[in-house]
Amino acid sequence: MKAMVLEAPGRPLRETELPDPKPGPGQVLLRVSACGVCRTDLHVADGELPDPKLPLVLGHQIVGETEDGRRLGVPWLGWTDGECRYCRSGRENLCDRARFTGYQLDGGYAELAVADERYCFPLPEGYSDVQAAPLLCAGLIGYRALRAAGDAERLGLYGFGASAHIIAQVARHQGRRVFAFVRAGDEQAGDFALELGAEWAGGSLDRPPEELDAAIIFAPVGELVPAALAATAKGGIVVCAGIHMSDIPSFPYELLWGERVVRSIANLTRQDGEELLALAPEVPVRTEVEVFPLERANEALDKLRAGEVRGAAVLSVVSAG
Ligand SMILES: [Zn+2]
Ligand SMILES: [Zn+2]
Repeated sequence: MKAMVLEAPGRPLRETELPDPKPGPGQVLLRVSACGVCRTDLHVADGELPDPKLPLVLGHQIVGETEDGRRLGVPWLGWTDGECRYCRSGRENLCDRARFTGYQLDGGYAELAVADERYCFPLPEGYSDVQAAPLLCAGLIGYRALRAAGDAERLGLYGFGASAHIIAQVARHQGRRVFAFVRAGDEQAGDFALELGAEWAGGSLDRPPEELDAAIIFAPVGELVPAALAATAKGGIVVCAGIHMSDIPSFPYELLWGERVVRSIANLTRQDGEELLALAPEVPVRTEVEVFPLERANEALDKLRAGEVRGAAVLSVVSAG
């Protein structure tokens, strides 16, 4: 099969012919049709996450078809042990031995992929393959972050990329008010947020017109934590939704005082996936995708790194046979 392979962090992916993967017990073989490009893929490719499998096929928002003709989605959570104290308490996202797709397991930047069927999701009808792909991480992790924001009415979203563009729609559907924070001067991102129902868009260090009840930080920028705390009302929650973030600068205790909370979101549970994939067509969430052929995965990663993707980048995979 053809695959775009990471041979070492910091190097571009290389187009390679690999032997077709063989499904093991409990696994399905999928003919990949689309694979979303996530910021986490960048962190892996850039060497910001430790010890990836190498060589590695990136990609954990896989849409593919099984040999018996079912359309399935493969997310980041690829396997858990089911027996550690986290798994036994409904927190499989924190499993000590979890294995992740496109990190410790080969992912979907390829014509074929294998996946443990217990962690795959049927996908809602009404979404094409490329439109469904971003639901599988941008959507799922964003949804978990939104739940962690509690019943906040005034919600700030820091970084208006793939996750925020989905979660803004879900939040509006739930009757919340959305305030979008984008890179200073990025008018396109601000306009995009307003189109998707945000009532205000401003620079990431600006103060919104009202205090926030919660903020979700999608951008991997530690400086945003004190900025979001400063924009958040007493009792508010600041949720860091990314897997990697630059160091958080020290800040005065006054910013945290007043029962403000800072927390992170790690990975997903299968329940998060089931809930979001049921909710998406009800909203209905409309995903905005920029599609690249598989062979141009490096270009997709570069555009994402430069903040030039509107909505979500997705690789479209057309296999030879
Ligand atoms: Zn476990
Ligand atoms: Zn992801």
